Amino acid sequence: MNENPAKSSSKRGKIIILVAPSGAGKTTLARRLLADFPNLTFSVSATTRPPREHEIDGKDYLFLSPEEFDQAVANGEFLEWEEFYGGKRYGTLQSGVERELEKGYFVLFDIEVKGALNVKKKYGDDALAVFIKPPSDADLVQRLKKRGTETEESLQLRLERARMELSYADRFDCVIVNDDLKRCYKELADVVTSFMNS
Ligand code: ADP
Ligand code: 5GP
Repeated sequence: MNENPAKSSSKRGKIIILVAPSGAGKTTLARRLLADFPNLTFSVSATTRPPREHEIDGKDYLFLSPEEFDQAVANGEFLEWEEFYGGKRYGTLQSGVERELEKGYFVLFDIEVKGALNVKKKYGDDALAVFIKPPSDADLVQRLKKRGTETEESLQLRLERARMELSYADRFDCVIVNDDLKRCYKELADVVTSFMNS
């Protein structure tokens, strides 16, 4: 058995960035991609927000104190970082990503729109930026309510942010509508496969 599925090719890997307004289905789609593509690995971001109950430090995020985050910024360790949702900071550490790319892995980024466009600018054709769109505002509201993680206030904040993010969709390499999950995933997996083979 090949311990490292990316090892069979000596080629450097590339980046795949998934962006979607909260509730559009990005987590569901990312999990499926990671399960189906053994040469794909997840980019673990750093954040100053506190961990949620089920989250594991080093797996879901690297949870840093504001001081640790400041230090990493000062050391130039971030490929990109942004501040949002009430002053919490999120960023991608360059060293982890480069290590995986050098090993030949494709690296999946789950980051928000501005960070995504910065990464795309830096990596050009070595990054595929995909925007996942909900079929409509009404569907987005319904999915967020169904997920049951939002208060009325945070729902409104997420919807406002969703509208801002949707206005950037045409700057992405491709836009996929998550109407029917099965259909959407097939389209996404096809785009990812052809990018990997390019
Ligand atoms: P995100 O990570 O973008 O916030 P999630 O993957 O958590 O979104 O999905 C939000 C909710 O919508 C979940 O309950 C998920 O099961 C559901 N969902 C995802 N895609 C679809 C779809 N195509 N149709 C209906 N519900 C969906
Ligand atoms: P959450 O707090 O729900 O885990 O994430 C909130 C938002 O932060 C999501 O849109 C997620 O994609 C984004 N995010 C996570 N990591 C990063 C990162 O490293 N950089 C940027 N720019 N956004 C990130």
